[in-house]
Amino acid sequence: MSLFINDSCIGCTFCQNECPVMAISYDGDHYQIAPDICIGCGTCSRVCVMDAIEDSECPRLPVPAHEKQTLECDFCVVGGGAAGLVAAAKVAESGKKVIVLEKNRKPGGGGYFAVGLTPSNTQWEKDAGVPENIEERVARAMAQTENKLDPALMKNLFTSLGGVFDWLCSWAPVEKCFALSPNPFDGALSVGTKDQSYGSGKFITTHILPHLEKLGVKILTETAGTGLELSSDGSVQAVLARDPGGEIRIACGTCLLCTGSLIRSERIRKMIPEFATADVKRYAHDMPTLTGDGLTIAEEAGIPLNQDSIVLAFVGCMPVAYEEGPFKQGERKDAIRINLEGKRWVNESAGGKDMAEKLLYQPKAVSYTVMDSSILESREPKPAPPACAPGDPGGPPMMMEFPYPGGVPDFAVTRKEKTPANAEAFRALSGKIGHGTLVCADTLEELAAGMGADASALKKSIEEYNAICSAGMDAAFGKDAIYLRPLVRAPYFAIRNYLYLDGVFGGLNITPGMQVVGANGPVPGLYAAGDITCGRYTNDLMHKTEVINDYSWAIAGGYMAAESILKAL
Ligand SMILES: Cc1cc2nc3c(=O)[nH]c(=O)nc-3n(C[C@H](O)[C@H](O)[C@H](O)COP(=O)(O)OP(=O)(O)OC[C@H]3O[C@@H](n4cnc5c(N)ncnc54)[C@H](O)[C@@H]3O)c2cc1C
Ligand code: SF4
Ligand code: SF4
Repeated sequence: MSLFINDSCIGCTFCQNECPVMAISYDGDHYQIAPDICIGCGTCSRVCVMDAIEDSECPRLPVPAHEKQTLECDFCVVGGGAAGLVAAAKVAESGKKVIVLEKNRKPGGGGYFAVGLTPSNTQWEKDAGVPENIEERVARAMAQTENKLDPALMKNLFTSLGGVFDWLCSWAPVEKCFALSPNPFDGALSVGTKDQSYGSGKFITTHILPHLEKLGVKILTETAGTGLELSSDGSVQAVLARDPGGEIRIACGTCLLCTGSLIRSERIRKMIPEFATADVKRYAHDMPTLTGDGLTIAEEAGIPLNQDSIVLAFVGCMPVAYEEGPFKQGERKDAIRINLEGKRWVNESAGGKDMAEKLLYQPKAVSYTVMDSSILESREPKPAPPACAPGDPGGPPMMMEFPYPGGVPDFAVTRKEKTPANAEAFRALSGKIGHGTLVCADTLEELAAGMGADASALKKSIEEYNAICSAGMDAAFGKDAIYLRPLVRAPYFAIRNYLYLDGVFGGLNITPGMQVVGANGPVPGLYAAGDITCGRYTNDLMHKTEVINDYSWAIAGGYMAAESILKAL
């Protein structure tokens, strides 16, 4: 066995975290397996949803071409992720024939990575005496979104959040992943994920797949839904698909479109040209199959899209997603953010979302976090706690940890190997990693060369910034004064940062029963769920005000669609 990681890797770190002998490391660009350390246990291949781990001694065989195939079922799911797998299982439990089409080499989608399912009004809560709060949650959701959402959809959603969890309890060992505990907001008992490191997405995906197998659900992987055939009355009569061997027609009366986030969609690239030219590091949210096919399929079937609902969920301007250690230093607020022109471009103490929105308009949407040795070797200052209200005794005073009293903090090269945060360690690492990811230099000219930035502009930006630090006030960008620290002591360091999005959402209008709304009302037999649907958030100039998190919406949406489908079948 000689394992290697191929180009489908999205850097999710699952294999690295689970390898028992730490044979997997990251070089700033790629994950790789050390053949001399690997013991061939197969864990990495099992946990990799991208099927990116190959054995060079057993090369994958090309798929032979086939004639156009015809299949038949009661219900066809386009997209085997969070929403699709739930809907497939729920419908198949009633004895219906279900086929799931999954474009990726393995099912799971983005749902495999999601941490938080937030059910409510579950049987567990009812048994613990927690009063039902569906009406209250609907009222809150409507108030939060200025009554822009559909209250009937909200009612179905908040009811189904309990229904889907109770249903999971009927076939999965949910107590391994979920627990009833006081929630941090008001202390009321509620169901939540027990252990953040074992997210609900991985738990549900790994348990639902054998459940689907027992139910006889056929999952066609590497098979992309490509179109819909509607009959003369506008109802669904078939789904068209393509696998590596050729075309497939799946005759069915009901279809669920749930192809996930639009993050890799050409549509978004055309809508926002800066997004098209952004140099984005491959990361788990940016799965290559998330190309918004569900919207294309609907549009080609004559269904109007809700373009205004499409929203980019900016998260931050981050070094390398999910990596820790030296890369984490790239998020420091006491460093300075420099774009590829060598110019400072943002208030470094601003939140990640605000910064990401601005990063989109920087050249290639790339930025470097630049610091000197004094910053690198100390800990980021912490803001003072908010002042207490009159009469509030308050807690103990928060200690300022700057300058860091305990010596230099640690940072990790991989998640498990620790290396001290000092100039020598950084220099060694930057040489090892390369790719312009970490740059270490004795002069600002050399630093600019490593970053691919203009040296005189970089020097000028740092001179201006140091003057701001001396004045103690940032008139240029309004950076919080506690983070103002001059860059004076060589060597200097730069960490490359990229645009980071949680996903791109919306596009399809749905009824409260998750049926797709076409030009003449609900399309018979056509349903949608998950990231490609709107209805649970408002989009105010790319600000997504949501009443439920993405994953819970997908899981509840798949369940809501299945309930409607079962009534209709
Ligand atoms: C890394 C990561 C972490 C996340 N963490 C969280 C979190 O902590 N909390 C949270 O609320 N949300 C989180 N999310 C978001 C959440 O996972 C998604 O909102 C949810 O999975 C959406 O469900 P879905 O069914 O719409 O799409 P997905 O689960 O992404 O599934 C869509 C599937 O459709 C497939 N597909 C695409 N096109 C086609 C086609 N033409 N034919 C067939 N199949 C197709 C895709 O390959 C994919 O498998 C995370 C997402 C990612 C990627
Ligand atoms: S996608 Fe994740 S699990 Fe698969 S090889 Fe890459 S880092 Fe490892
Ligand atoms: S096969 Fe096992 S030991 Fe080898 S890299 Fe994968 S998880 Fe690590």
